Amino acid sequence: MNLILFGPPAAGKGTQAKRLVETRKMVHLSTGDMLRAAIASGSELGKRVSGIMERGELVSDGIVIELIEQRLPEAEAAGGAIFDGFPRTLAQAQALDEMLAHRGSRIDLVVRLKVDDEALMQRIAGRYAESGRPDDNPESFKVRLDAYNSQTAPLLPYYENHKKLVQVDGMGSIDDVAGAIDQALDAPRW
Ligand code: AMP
Repeated sequence: MNLILFGPPAAGKGTQAKRLVETRKMVHLSTGDMLRAAIASGSELGKRVSGIMERGELVSDGIVIELIEQRLPEAEAAGGAIFDGFPRTLAQAQALDEMLAHRGSRIDLVVRLKVDDEALMQRIAGRYAESGRPDDNPESFKVRLDAYNSQTAPLLPYYENHKKLVQVDGMGSIDDVAGAIDQALDAPRW
């Protein structure tokens, strides 16, 4: 089972992914986490992406596609992946479909967490003080939200056309959202 957790920054994708890792033993593939690890390690890649990330812009498709490709065997061995923060562009979505097809696999489900922009801005104001994430500052967050609305949200029709999309209200409590995701995962599929 390969699942994409889809939604804007701070929608709760990471929180829900961590829970699914525990309950379903799937592998969590977060390109944001991978890029932050590259920055923390001081690698060449980290140096290339740190400014871009700090501003809240998207790094190039080639970089994130390669990061994901490297982790697919591990996810396959575990029985499935939770993609979090990937894909973010149509090119990434198409590359993901091709990489999976090449391995005899596919995306089974895309769960969209719906949270309105106003609520996200409020959430992030609280998170910035605690997280210390440089891209959680209000200016960068605005850029991230704009990137989501202009480059990532247009993927929704792509997954809807492929009959993969399920919409979940992301405004509820963590447990309520978790329950809705479980329901979507356990529902019989077409
Ligand atoms: P995230 O933790 O998913 O919010 O990602 C943090 C930042 O990493 C984003 O604002 C981008 O700069 C970069 N990033 C993460 N995933 C991607 C992706 N799939 N495509 C482009 N940039 C990404």
